[in-house]
Amino acid sequence: MFRMGELEVEAVRKVLMSHQLFRIGGELQEVNNFEREFREKMGVSHCLCLASGTGALIASLAALGVGPGDEVIVPGYTFIATAIAALAVGAIPVVAEINETMTLDMDDVERKITPNTKCVIPVHIQGFPCDMERLMQLKEKYGFYVVEDSCQADGGSFHGKRLGTIGDCGAYSFNYFKIISAGEGGAMVTNDIDLYQRAIIYHDCGSAFWTYETPITAPLYTGTNMRVSEVTGAIMRAQLTRLDGILADLRRVKKTIIDAVADLPMLKPNPSNDMDGDCGVCLPFIFDDVATAEKFEKAIGGTRPINTGKHVYREWTPILEKRGAHSSAMNPYENPANAHLRLDTYPDSCPKTLDILSRTVYQFLNCDWTEEELNEVIAKIRAAAKEL
Ligand SMILES: *Cc1c(COP(=O)(O)O)cnc(C)c1O
Repeated sequence: MFRMGELEVEAVRKVLMSHQLFRIGGELQEVNNFEREFREKMGVSHCLCLASGTGALIASLAALGVGPGDEVIVPGYTFIATAIAALAVGAIPVVAEINETMTLDMDDVERKITPNTKCVIPVHIQGFPCDMERLMQLKEKYGFYVVEDSCQADGGSFHGKRLGTIGDCGAYSFNYFKIISAGEGGAMVTNDIDLYQRAIIYHDCGSAFWTYETPITAPLYTGTNMRVSEVTGAIMRAQLTRLDGILADLRRVKKTIIDAVADLPMLKPNPSNDMDGDCGVCLPFIFDDVATAEKFEKAIGGTRPINTGKHVYREWTPILEKRGAHSSAMNPYENPANAHLRLDTYPDSCPKTLDILSRTVYQFLNCDWTEEELNEVIAKIRAAAKEL
């Protein structure tokens, strides 16, 4: 999806020639500058750049003190990393249904909340914004933390607020498949300086040896190394300058296709919680039955999300088989502190999710399609629809 060019080449060249690749102490301060530029763009007070989106999720949960004895509600449709993050801090992931927006079904979230629910992770999958209004109302009512998984939604928004900045913390990914990318990388954002400090400690081996944006005053605790180098910082600074342009083009492409097929009653784009904030990476169509969806999928060369492997909870082997760590003494599923929690995730835990995923077909979108390529896509979709 991402765009890459001379801007990034020059940025990396500058870092390499400086011989200062470590984020601390160099003259260029690429990572520090990226963190400042990213938090300003997102409209949030703190940003920590780290090695991955998974790392950003784990550091967020650790910062919030989520751990053994806690349940974390995650959608049954997301990359496995969302659920793994809960296990990584010793908590238990509980899967909830999605609705036709492809994001968390807040009615099901409310049904699944118990006094053990410490956190909910809404996932803005494929850049589709979750219903953050309803989730924040539930948070107010029941008192849990919200960590937004914005790994597929860099730059998207809900009701004018950037995705990832509405809950307690937000996690972004800059891996190869995301909207902006350094090959690998991630960021955590928050408006809470204590969470920011605790995330720094976690991602820097439980130390606070170096000075970040602010001196660390929070008590030190054990973490791991999720730091990034100046190369990542430099690439991401260049990438960030491209973000608005990418989103504008993706949204233009999506709107053009939706308008061009609006006269076809057999085509129903999935509803959106906020079409203005949608990232535009994907155009989903939903059908009444699986057979029609399959036929359309084949005809347009699209993808049914039911087949995207580790994004569907019934493919999350370590979770279904309750192997939540490398050693059984560290396995959250075997921890007595979790014995009273809902430990079981079954292949049929979220039947509504499976149904929606199997009746939905994705047309992925490209911000760099020419007029001609875009017209070809439209023609292909129109022809396929008429054959249904
Ligand atoms: C990509 C992704 C992640 C993990 O990001 P990495 O940078 O690969 O660790 C987490 N959640 C979702 C929804 C993702 O798409």
